[in-house]
Amino acid sequence: MRVVFFSAKPYDIQFFKDLNQFYGHELHFLDVPLHTDTAVLARGFDVVCIFVNDEASSLVIEQLADLNVKLLALRSAGFNHVDLAAAQKFKISVVRVPAYSPYSVAEHTLALVLTLNRKTHRAYNRIREGNFSLNGLMGFDLHDRTVGLIGLGKIGFATTRIFKGLGCRVLGYDVVQQPEGNEIGLEFTDLATIYAESDIISLHCPLTPETYHIIDETSIAQMKRGVMLINTSRGALINTLAVIEGLKHEQIGYLGLDVYEEEGDLFFEDLSDKVIQDDVFTRLLAFPNVLITGHQAFFTQNAMHKIAEVTLQNISAFAKNEPLPNALK
Ligand code: NAD
Repeated sequence: MRVVFFSAKPYDIQFFKDLNQFYGHELHFLDVPLHTDTAVLARGFDVVCIFVNDEASSLVIEQLADLNVKLLALRSAGFNHVDLAAAQKFKISVVRVPAYSPYSVAEHTLALVLTLNRKTHRAYNRIREGNFSLNGLMGFDLHDRTVGLIGLGKIGFATTRIFKGLGCRVLGYDVVQQPEGNEIGLEFTDLATIYAESDIISLHCPLTPETYHIIDETSIAQMKRGVMLINTSRGALINTLAVIEGLKHEQIGYLGLDVYEEEGDLFFEDLSDKVIQDDVFTRLLAFPNVLITGHQAFFTQNAMHKIAEVTLQNISAFAKNEPLPNALK
């Protein structure tokens, strides 16, 4: 099939080109993101392949349908950026990569926790400048600390295993309780208990109308003073202004983010010679106890291989009119 990729970076091109020798699709890569002004570039293609910050709103989907696009192939698990009702209305099928490597995101969560706690990023810079002082670098043992996870799917369980391995008590909340949780020593509880008892809180649920701003002024007020808050899921799970207030009042002691509510204007691009116009984001950068990575939790070789493989399988299944196990409705 003729496939156009939006937001295609060199690493996407490398993995997809390598694997496509087994699938034989015609791949065309564009660096620009998909939105109302760029949708026209899908003219002549059967399939549009997009990533997390591409915009598949109802307006864009209507434009794609007018261009005779038949399939929207997501290179992601999350699909909060796609208007599925519009896709159904305009008869565009949508497929995703439901699981590629929960370990990639769970391990990045650990990286954020350890860096914030043991301040290895600050130590790295100090040592290079010949500053061997330990002042300001003190951390705490993770052993025996309580970690609260919100969302216990594939990534939540992988994260549970990691923190159990470090000797932590792991509390978890999910709208669905999977029996597997008890076997790995997870304690299912409610949100109030997570907020009241956790030293570290990490978000692993999808962004939905129910989870939008699940972390706000009210939930922050219920947390332990000095809590460490980690978000590797989706930016809008957190009300950023409320978190900034929490940091200023030292109610939040550490913040680790791989995602940000307004990341679409920033992440995945080199803006190092530009003036960042997002004042909320720059306020976050001013805190010494905030660590931000640019939506890279998924970014391992294993995950990239799987994303490319499953996406190409999804497209081939669609081309052959076979059942689509990874379809979204
Ligand atoms: P999953 O579908 O396996 O698990 C999500 C879990 O969240 C499910 O168990 C579900 O029941 C639960 N959930 C849904 N609504 C909830 C609510 N209101 N309260 C509590 N729990 C709720 O998904 P996953 O593979 O574990 O991924 C989790 C999220 O991680 C994805 O939705 C995506 O947003 C994010 N993600 C981020 C990256 C990254 O690079 N930063 C990569 C992959 C996934």
